[in-house]
Amino acid sequence: MSKILQFYRQREKYQDLFNETQRFKAYGERQLDNIAQIQRLPEEQRLAMHAVASVLPFRVNQYVIDELIDWTNIPEDPIFQLTFPQPGMLEEEDFARMEQLLRSGADRTAVKQAASEIRKKFNPHPAGQKSLNVPTFDNEPLPGMQHKYRETVLFFPSQGQTCHTYCSFCFRWAQFIGDKDLRISSNGSAQLHQYLKSHKTISDLLITGGDPMVMKTKYLEQYLLPLLDRGFEHIQNIRIGTKAISFWPQRFVSDGDSESLLDLIERMVKAGKHIAIMTHFNHWREMETPLAVEAIRRLRSAGATLRSQSPVIRNINDDPNVWAKMWRMQTRLGIVPYYMFVERDTGAKHYFEVPLARVYRIFREAVKQVSGLSRTVRGPSMSATPGKVEIQGVGEIRGEKVFVLRFLQGRNPDWVQRPFFARYDEQATWLTDLKPAFGEERFFFEN
Ligand SMILES: *Cc1c(COP(=O)(O)O)cnc(C)c1O
Repeated sequence: MSKILQFYRQREKYQDLFNETQRFKAYGERQLDNIAQIQRLPEEQRLAMHAVASVLPFRVNQYVIDELIDWTNIPEDPIFQLTFPQPGMLEEEDFARMEQLLRSGADRTAVKQAASEIRKKFNPHPAGQKSLNVPTFDNEPLPGMQHKYRETVLFFPSQGQTCHTYCSFCFRWAQFIGDKDLRISSNGSAQLHQYLKSHKTISDLLITGGDPMVMKTKYLEQYLLPLLDRGFEHIQNIRIGTKAISFWPQRFVSDGDSESLLDLIERMVKAGKHIAIMTHFNHWREMETPLAVEAIRRLRSAGATLRSQSPVIRNINDDPNVWAKMWRMQTRLGIVPYYMFVERDTGAKHYFEVPLARVYRIFREAVKQVSGLSRTVRGPSMSATPGKVEIQGVGEIRGEKVFVLRFLQGRNPDWVQRPFFARYDEQATWLTDLKPAFGEERFFFEN
């Protein structure tokens, strides 16, 4: 019997788990050796982890360690790959340099200096996020917001710019390295509301991070409740991007303010707003625990809709069967599959990237296995500088093998849905690697 079915049949069995207020215990790079399972690893392996974690953000909590990772299957275990530093995440020379520094007992300043140099190669804000997407009000830039597509504004509340656990492939890694210049964040709820009020073409507010669900309910209330006032009738959909169901389902079940969070959602929904929880599952394992299933159940009972999105990531989920199983589980749990993304060109991309041609094959092989209810998913999609570009297929036109592409979202709304063609390329991993088909000089949107 599936674990989900088992859960629904024997829910009483888990009641203690739901009533218990669990204390959140997390580990950063400096506490890596405090983790019991890590203590058992050979010295060399631990040193390698420290080398990587000095460059890329690392944070993991006890729930992930105890409930999600299969420690008999490391390093291959997908959740271990998703959360713990792996040697391949740095280029060979950078890794060697870091390892050497740590081995020789170099001081903190030298390590920090080297880390910061290595990070410079990592493209912290791909697709023009800091240069092209920042809106203005009264000629002043609003740094904690992004407004790229007409209907939707992204908001980065300052209290939500961390996560319960960091994903190793995270494209927002620059939020977590303590560099204020790189961080996108805002503590101005007044600014947000002013901007929304004066732009009537916006229908969607997307609260993102980090993870907004690390915020206490009282902060979320400050951002959300004013949207029930007059002047915000055009804000119909409020999306909250979160990975808390995976990394801290207690947030919706047993945390001190979980009830008030669910009350807040219910209140917004009853007042006519659509609350969309944009979940982020990279692997079906994240949805298997009784706490995660209960978190999903409670969010749905409060009236939220749940959608899911994730990139295809090498070493974690580059397998059509993983996706098919994940979509089937989500559909059963009431989560609508929404986006399959291509891993972005940032951070340790070389370790995680999958060529577009292969991502497309994974998508097709996975979609073939699921019923129509799961085929709501769109993709594979690249969130690139001009917009979200979907790989619709591979075909042959007048003897030339091509990728068929279209914009799901465009910086220019008029680009959306027009098919266009790129020369097929087995190695390309991003839009910028592609050349127009049929000998054309440019893609139509480059004119
Ligand atoms: C993906 C994305 C959105 C939302 O697009 P939808 O197609 O409405 O889901 C909004 N803004 C940015 C910058 C995005 O990348």
